Amino acid sequence: MKKLFTSQDAFELQAVRSELDALSIPYMVKNEFASGAIGELPWQDSQQEVWLVDDSWYARASRVIEPFIQKPNDKALSSEDWICGECSEQNGAAFDVCWQCGAEN
Ligand SMILES: [Zn+2]
Repeated sequence: MKKLFTSQDAFELQAVRSELDALSIPYMVKNEFASGAIGELPWQDSQQEVWLVDDSWYARASRVIEPFIQKPNDKALSSEDWICGECSEQNGAAFDVCWQCGAEN
């Protein structure tokens, strides 16, 4: 199990899930039923998380979420990119493996 994506934006989460569904990538959602408590709990507690059931999908799934985690206005996610040592592809800091070739950072 590997956490793929998390957001407090239900629309983004749904978009990611739709993409994963379209590619038949197995995933599960944690905190899915906590959204009714928004306003009573800190947002961290009601934030949904998308987890990959099978880590071997991670490289491919990372490409799905890429447009969602590279929003220029989201400073919380704009840490440093890294360059893959295998294929010289540029990867977002949120990725543990190269999205192009799957090599580890
Ligand atoms: Zn690579």
